[in-house]
Amino acid sequence: MRKITLIVAAALCLALALGGAAQAGKLDDIKAKGVLVCGVKDSQVPFGYVDEKTNQIVGFDIDMCKYVADKLGVKLEVKPVTSATRIPMLTQGSVDMVAATMTHKFERDEVIDFSITYFMDGQKLLVKKGGGVNSTADLKGKKVGTAKGSTSEKNIKDAQPEAQVISFENYPQAFLALKQGKVAAVTTDSTILLGIKNSDENPGDWEIVGDFFSAEPYGLGLPENDSKFRDFVNKSLAEMWVSGDYQKIYDKWFGKDTKYYLPLNWKMEIWPF
Ligand code: GLU
Repeated sequence: MRKITLIVAAALCLALALGGAAQAGKLDDIKAKGVLVCGVKDSQVPFGYVDEKTNQIVGFDIDMCKYVADKLGVKLEVKPVTSATRIPMLTQGSVDMVAATMTHKFERDEVIDFSITYFMDGQKLLVKKGGGVNSTADLKGKKVGTAKGSTSEKNIKDAQPEAQVISFENYPQAFLALKQGKVAAVTTDSTILLGIKNSDENPGDWEIVGDFFSAEPYGLGLPENDSKFRDFVNKSLAEMWVSGDYQKIYDKWFGKDTKYYLPLNWKMEIWPF
């Protein structure tokens, strides 16, 4: 009996040691394999979507990943995630990092870690122009579409408890339901809504309405308890900001010459180097 207990205890110690070593070494792991695997959206213009010409996933979030991969001197591989799969994919180790319009909030921080804020937004509604819905107050007794596993799902329930929330795999599916008249609005972060509206063939048919009813600061999703990797990513983001590269990437996707113009009206938290 005592022997068995000893063997079990030894196995436990070994498992803990190995687990600890694996967790502590994400940065070394990535360097050793020569690739950073990043979980990104693939149907969310302009954050992460398939470029029809090249068939590649491109977007603002992909450029965030590319910057970190370049700093590490490794290649970038992207894997599509949804709002519901991004955290499990990170905890299971099928991606090293998540750049997928993900709000960092304390509830999520219990399972994974986050970088500092790299994008700021808030939640609004996308509706049919002139359809009579102008704010969450107008959604009483109406159906509203959003994505499974998002903060948007929870926020809308708080903002309008009398709406019926229908959750789809992704936002384009929720938009299709709006086009088919199955929901009265789509709700999520305003820039995602702007991406949906302005990449539609008839952008003028749709309207983004109401006040912001949540704050959505985005963080890169990182493995839990790996401070060496987290420090590296945070320093990369800070360097990106200070060097002006962040502004360049931002302008490429959200600048005046794009269909998704959004003035940069917040500042990254920069510690002195
Ligand atoms: N930023 C929100 C979230 O993290 C909504 C966008 C999304 O579903 O990715 O849940």
